[in-house]
Amino acid sequence: MTNSTILVTGGSGLVGQAIKAYTDENSQPGETWIFLSSKDGDLRVRGDTDKIFDKYQPTHVIHLAAKVGGLFANLSQKVEFYRENTLINDNIMENCRLHKVTKLVSMLSTCIFPDKTKYPIDETMLHDGPPHPSNEGYAYAKRLIDTMNRAYAEEYGCNFTSIIPTNIYGPHDNFSIQNGHVIPGLIHKCYIAKKEGTPFTIWGSGTPLRQFIYSLDLAELTVWVMRDYHSPDPITLSVDESAEVPIKDVALAVAKAMKFEGEVVFDTTKADGQFKKTACNKKLRSYRPDYKFVSMEEGIQKSVDWFLANYETARK
Ligand code: NAP
Ligand code: GDP
Repeated sequence: MTNSTILVTGGSGLVGQAIKAYTDENSQPGETWIFLSSKDGDLRVRGDTDKIFDKYQPTHVIHLAAKVGGLFANLSQKVEFYRENTLINDNIMENCRLHKVTKLVSMLSTCIFPDKTKYPIDETMLHDGPPHPSNEGYAYAKRLIDTMNRAYAEEYGCNFTSIIPTNIYGPHDNFSIQNGHVIPGLIHKCYIAKKEGTPFTIWGSGTPLRQFIYSLDLAELTVWVMRDYHSPDPITLSVDESAEVPIKDVALAVAKAMKFEGEVVFDTTKADGQFKKTACNKKLRSYRPDYKFVSMEEGIQKSVDWFLANYETARK
């Protein structure tokens, strides 16, 4: 048995807390898991990052920490999304090289793919054209992770890779209406509509299509990538194409889980963002043909229940 120390950056966030819940039950002998938050150091700052690596001497790193936000945050802060993520990623990758980390797994996203593309998108198409203008700051910072994973492998023989999740949701999400992603934003808005007897407002037309992965499923698959997937080329972690849904259906599932029976309205003055970003999970299915994802209805019910039980402390 070899001992390993696995450092999870962004360990206090949506995905980090899901990995914590998963590994609390499923860690392997010899594994020590460390979950970081920004309280342990600011990863935009090289000196803070160096101190964290000196302190923990990780053998493996799952790199989740990032400036993350939904469509509306991305539209208004392109400079910050680019700069903060570029700084964080550079500090992590270079420390992983210097500390001879055996394996680094970083997170990309299906929203960083070319805007004008063929569907479904697969791992080979990442750099085939500019991203959607709404999130270009975030997208270019994230794309560079993939470029540098290959560069670190070629020049230094590093075992760095990345995963490409679709939209994620679950317990510990950021339920901020202004800055969060669509599912936590809708959950929070529906909660207020129910409490105040006001309409539940869906932003945009409700027609854009998305695939959603429940955070606990993503956690299990991310840990599998860390242990068993060894290539610098990214791997998409997504539900099947048949599970793609219009935003309107997502909102109705939130209303049902919240037992909201009032009026549902659309605010079409708000942006729709990308119409779709249908991802192909053929590569994942070639390794994990039988993996069963939590259904969106079940995942939304669990997320609503978590939000109601943790309302006082949830990020919002
Ligand atoms: P999240 O809930 O917003 O959590 C972000 C995490 O990063 C938190 O632990 C936060 O620490 C940490 N962090 C942010 N800035 C930091 C800094 N300067 N120094 C140190 N730590 C910092 O994010 P998430 O949704 O779990 O996302 C995890 C990863 O998945 C990200 O790389 C994201 O780009 C990617 N992703 C997310 C989605 C999605 O739908 N959410 C979709 C695709 C890809 P504090 O808690 O202390 O602030
Ligand atoms: P994206 O998938 O990267 O575009 O990010 P989001 O998770 O923010 O999803 C955005 C889609 O959901 C767009 O079509 C929005 O118009 C729609 N949407 C509807 N209501 C909301 C809401 O309350 N918050 C957010 N973020 N998006 C919403």
